[in-house]
Amino acid sequence: MTTFSHHHHPSFQELCLKTLKESGARLTRARMALIESLESAREPLAPKEILQKTQDRLKGQETVDSVTIYRILDRFCELGLVHQVAPSGGYLACTHLACTEQPHIMTYCTQCRQADEIHVPDEVMAPLLWFLRSQNKFEAKKHLFQLDGTCASCRQDLRVKAFATSEEAPTEPLS
Ligand SMILES: [Zn+2]
Ligand SMILES: [Zn+2]
Ligand SMILES: [Zn+2]
Repeated sequence: MTTFSHHHHPSFQELCLKTLKESGARLTRARMALIESLESAREPLAPKEILQKTQDRLKGQETVDSVTIYRILDRFCELGLVHQVAPSGGYLACTHLACTEQPHIMTYCTQCRQADEIHVPDEVMAPLLWFLRSQNKFEAKKHLFQLDGTCASCRQDLRVKAFATSEEAPTEPLS
């Protein structure tokens, strides 16, 4: 009997293991350490950072080089386990592994570099797909695209700053 209720949301780690198993990929210690490194990151990580974190987690039990890291990341991208985020091309763990065929938007905050994968309802997506099909004769397949902008917390900060500036602003001399 399983202890998981049907409300249990499988973790990134669990879904990775499942996907890797299904694709017949071997589960090496390096792959495991890389998965753990990506799991907690909220902003896209550069391969160099991933290499460092993976090495830290392996605690010298095994050595990995950047070639190995790139190879694993390529494979993980193909399997949809991680996504590359522009403009840095950094890697971010997929947070929607359970909903494979659904469209998603990667929102990227240009202020704090935080990226979030957001599930797009079909009724929101349909007009866009229709537009592309009818106006551009383009059939969209890959359902993950990126929008750059400012996240909620950075927008809040900007509002606070704008308010502070307006408070400090020297008053116009009366003529
Ligand atoms: Zn994803
Ligand atoms: Zn932000
Ligand atoms: Zn989703």
